[in-house]
Amino acid sequence: MTSESPATRTAITGVRVYSSGSLGAPTTVVVEDGLLSADTSIEGAVVIDGAGGTLLPGLIDTHVHARSRGHLEAAGAAGVTTLIDLGSPDLDLLHSLQNLPGLPDLRSSGHSASGPGSHFIVKMGMPVSSGVDGPSDAARFVRERKAEGSELIKILIEDPKFPGAKPLSTETVAAIVTAAHDAGLLTVAHVVSAFTLRSALDAGVDVVTHAALGGELDAETQALIAKNGTVIIPTLGMMHGIVETIGGKMMMKIVGTLVPAARMKYRFAEATVGVFHAAGNTVLVGTDSNDSHEAPFNVPFGEGLHDELARLVAAGLTPSEALDGATAKAADVFGLTDRGRIAPGLRADLVLIDGDPTTQIAVTRNITGVWIGGDRVG
Ligand SMILES: [Zn+2]
Repeated sequence: MTSESPATRTAITGVRVYSSGSLGAPTTVVVEDGLLSADTSIEGAVVIDGAGGTLLPGLIDTHVHARSRGHLEAAGAAGVTTLIDLGSPDLDLLHSLQNLPGLPDLRSSGHSASGPGSHFIVKMGMPVSSGVDGPSDAARFVRERKAEGSELIKILIEDPKFPGAKPLSTETVAAIVTAAHDAGLLTVAHVVSAFTLRSALDAGVDVVTHAALGGELDAETQALIAKNGTVIIPTLGMMHGIVETIGGKMMMKIVGTLVPAARMKYRFAEATVGVFHAAGNTVLVGTDSNDSHEAPFNVPFGEGLHDELARLVAAGLTPSEALDGATAKAADVFGLTDRGRIAPGLRADLVLIDGDPTTQIAVTRNITGVWIGGDRVG
């Protein structure tokens, strides 16, 4: 019995490659053994005619809660080749979804930090040990996450004004940030209001996620955003979904915290994006995709990322800035040095589309091919 290895070379010809906001002249891109090759000869390769198409680096969704193979498949079909899971109560389930060939690469923060007895622990399945009991408990929390394989640290900051909140103090958040940085880990904080954003900024977190709906940011907060260079993952689709589902309710639960509905306006979330963008801070693309009944809104995997790109453009980013937030900039922030760009030696995570996304962001939906680690999946 002979087992002949299948062709491992693929050549995509006549394609324009997206790079740093512009499209190159038509060229050939070769995939070999899961990587992008410097040798662009088509000899012995399966040839894909990419004429008229645009090749993008595989898209990176920087905020999801993946719970099933179906979530990964939906993301992959939409050209999303890397998922950053920001908070998972069930590590066995999480680990079962990692390193699966032909599916998006799933990275995770594992269990999220919150106050002892928080809603996240009592209602949303996070373990008791994820409660951080003051600054002196921060190093223990980070050590446990690192031992479990968490690749970054997620911190849930609640607003003490909201009923039932068990918030982490700014001092505790700062201690978690210090411990995470000592361990070489990035910190991402969930913030739901101007108050919690300010707490995250004061504590020095690297990345904040969610653009709050409750009002405009004061001048001091705006100055701090610029000074710290904090990155934001606004999750505009989630914020829009929350506003749309408020209906007549007086209060709205946002992932464990209550916000007076009357004050919530989607334009405030867009304005927050504008503040970060105007300051020159990095704005990343993350959807908060989930199917949890405890979440205020269920953003779909895959499709949600294309919606988020369009929302970020509507909020003032150029199409290329939005796209960089789902490719090169996302890779840079999360330390994924093997992806996010199309260059020899990097992972062959690719999305082939029809059209020019630098002028019209909607064309990212016109997908004609997807490769994950060199495997064609769509
Ligand atoms: Zn989330």
